[in-house]
Formats: sequence, C-alpha cells, structure tokens
Amino acid sequence: MEDSAGSGNFDPYGGKTVQECQDMIRTSLETPTVKFLKENLEKAGCGIAENFIRAVKCSKQIGGGYVRGQGIIICSNHMNLQDEVDRVVIHELIHAYDDCRAANLDWTNCAHHACSEIRAGHLSGDCHFKRELLRGHLKLRGHEQECVKRRVMKSMAANPYCSETASKEAMDAVWDVCYNDTEPFDRAP
Ligand SMILES: [Zn+2]
Repeated sequence: MEDSAGSGNFDPYGGKTVQECQDMIRTSLETPTVKFLKENLEKAGCGIAENFIRAVKCSKQIGGGYVRGQGIIICSNHMNLQDEVDRVVIHELIHAYDDCRAANLDWTNCAHHACSEIRAGHLSGDCHFKRELLRGHLKLRGHEQECVKRRVMKSMAANPYCSETASKEAMDAVWDVCYNDTEPFDRAP
C-alpha cells in the first residue's frame, strides 16, 4: 500500500536525492524503535534483509509504501528531514509486521487494510502533536485520533478495492480493536 508523506506540503524544500535518502534510512535503522521492530519481525519469522528498505524517486505523491514480497520503498524526492524518514520507515514496518503475523491478511479487504493503517498511523507517531503543528492542524482535544483517521482515509484512497464509503465504514468498524492493538509494543510509543 501507499502512504502519504509526513509533511502536509509536498517537497517544499525540494526533497532528497536517492543516495541521501539511503543514508537517512541507514540512520533510521539504528534508532531504538526501528531496531525493536526489526527484532520482532525476525521473532515472527519475517527477518528483513539489508535491501528490504530502499530509497527511490517517486512520481506519485506518496511518502513511501510496502508491497508484500517486495519490501518497503521510501520516496527520496518527498523526504526532507530525518524525522520524516524515521516515521515512514516505522509506519511501513508496521505494515510488514501485520503482513507477517496474520497469515490470512488480505490487503484487498477494506477492514484488514484499515486496521493496519490505524495501527501504523498510531504506532509510528505520525500524529504526534508537534508534527501536527507543522502541518498546520492545531486542535487540542482528540487531535491525535482525528489525525490518524484523516491519514487512514488518505492511504486507503489508493486501494482500488475500497471506495471512500467502504473505507470509512471499515475504519469505523475496526477502530477500537485496532487502535488499542499496539503489538509488538506494550503501548503506543
Ligand atoms: Zn500505511
């Protein structure tokens, strides 16, 4: 699936080259959260190889994506900050983890896709307060959940099997269970 980038505006600073982004991915791989996810992917039987996460230049307006059997791409031309790369890497690793732990996960099933987007949005910290401020969304009460919902809908818009209505219904139906499912973390970081 394909996911929007961390910042609301696309490449306001022009983005990074593939090589620069590859270096930023290497830095991400040394952060505690990414290391923890990598370890848990291994434990779940889905250890990832060196080239599992690749920087590429994207023509679509996305920050990155995960494809079963192919790995994770990070869109270098839509990345500017290390923090953005870290968020996308973590977000996509949650998708990879979900794909690994549930043998019957079906990305064409809107509820399955919604659940993984809810978890990835929540657990990656995509919607932490300071990142929302940077996007110009300032609303205190319930801002985190609203932000996750907004981003779930954005990501699901790229799923040809899920209309906007079907996506919204699926998201609402699985929200409580999936928002509270923080595996492999004890709680949301
Ligand atoms: Zn996603």
